[in-house]
Amino acid sequence: MANLLIIGAGGVGSVVAHKCAQAAKYEQAFSSITLASRTRAKCDAIAQSVKKRLDVDLSTAQVDADNVPELCALLRDVKPDLVCNVALPYQDLHIMDACLECGVHYVDTANYEPLDTAKFEYKWQWAYNERFRDAGLTALLGSGFDPGVTNVYAAWALKHQLDEVHVLDIIDCNAGDHGQPFATNFNPEINIREVTARGRYWERGEWVETDPLSWSMTYDFPDGIGPKKCYLMYHEELESLVRNLKGVRRARFWMTFSENYLNHLKVLGNVGMTRIDPVKFQGQDIVPIQFLAKLLPDPASLGPLTKGKTCIGDVLRGVKNGKEKTVYIYNICDHEVCYAEVGSQAISYTTGVPAMIGTKMVASGQWRKPGVWNMEQMDPDPFMEDLNRYGLPWQCVEVK
Ligand code: NDP
Repeated sequence: MANLLIIGAGGVGSVVAHKCAQAAKYEQAFSSITLASRTRAKCDAIAQSVKKRLDVDLSTAQVDADNVPELCALLRDVKPDLVCNVALPYQDLHIMDACLECGVHYVDTANYEPLDTAKFEYKWQWAYNERFRDAGLTALLGSGFDPGVTNVYAAWALKHQLDEVHVLDIIDCNAGDHGQPFATNFNPEINIREVTARGRYWERGEWVETDPLSWSMTYDFPDGIGPKKCYLMYHEELESLVRNLKGVRRARFWMTFSENYLNHLKVLGNVGMTRIDPVKFQGQDIVPIQFLAKLLPDPASLGPLTKGKTCIGDVLRGVKNGKEKTVYIYNICDHEVCYAEVGSQAISYTTGVPAMIGTKMVASGQWRKPGVWNMEQMDPDPFMEDLNRYGLPWQCVEVK
């Protein structure tokens, strides 16, 4: 049984805390759980909800995860076996440094980003591989839904459905509606940086760039969701998947957006509100996107408002026994069902459940090997089983 420290008490952190408490209660996966974040009151509110819903006690703490000595002091006090990092991508390297210094395993859900450039590259975290390996510690990167489950779906397809994968399309559909004029489903700053970045996909051994949101297709989603327009974007899991998914020739990522969302984003972009560089305002430096994020609804507040479903999955085309074969692996998640279970909407839920499962895989030793790893480099089977058990059941259908 592992002693766990979760860092980050936002929308995703709340789901991770509830789900880890379930795994502790029903499977004894964790002996104790501490939730730490910049604002301790948020940790305390989540701990109260966990106590009420599951009768599990969480400890809470305050920490600035950008301050490595402060993090190390917390790690020495709590003595966790592993850290689940669901703060923001800016904190990844600091938390990895602290884990190395204190001999603690590491799990996260999003790749490191420098504050001043929206890069979405694993190079900074992959550069920690030797240090984690030499310390005998595991770092598991990107254990959310996308990245995360989408990587594991691809590994599972290659293990059980296809001998080779040639074409991968990851398609992320949020068919939910929160009734707000404009809001993002997870941290607004991170979300808008991602959506306004240039598109990029992998084609025959090289990256092809596209203007932001300039390519689209319509995909007919299952379970009554129906046809939706999806836009090609760059998404971080493509970088590791084109390395690790042998034989892949084309890899793309698509996401649905409503016309309303895109119109708002266009206007905000046109007037400079999505800029990530500082501008002088009344003698002070302000970063427009950070100011905008303060004005937008807190994603956690969308929980009680959001209705409808998400459908995220991989379409994989390849070869089985010498014949062409295409499979679609996907999950359908209902915003209101998630809210009833843990008090969060489906975007936080679909990220928080796999973050818990990845953490549990490292804690139990099933996914423990020294070094820095992406999700598709581990055995997909126990993770896929846990998705079914912990609220994200999946389907695999052959596409004719
Ligand atoms: P939120 O903004 O809701 O929460 C972030 C939390 O991190 C807040 O509690 C915040 O504290 C805390 N935090 C920020 N900076 C620090 C710091 N320096 N020290 C300590 N705590 C800090 O974000 P989300 O919950 O929506 O997202 C969490 C992570 O999940 C992000 O990295 C995001 O990119 C990732 N994600 C991954 C997805 C996937 O599928 N892989 C999908 C969606 C999100 P405070 O409350 O004080 O601001």
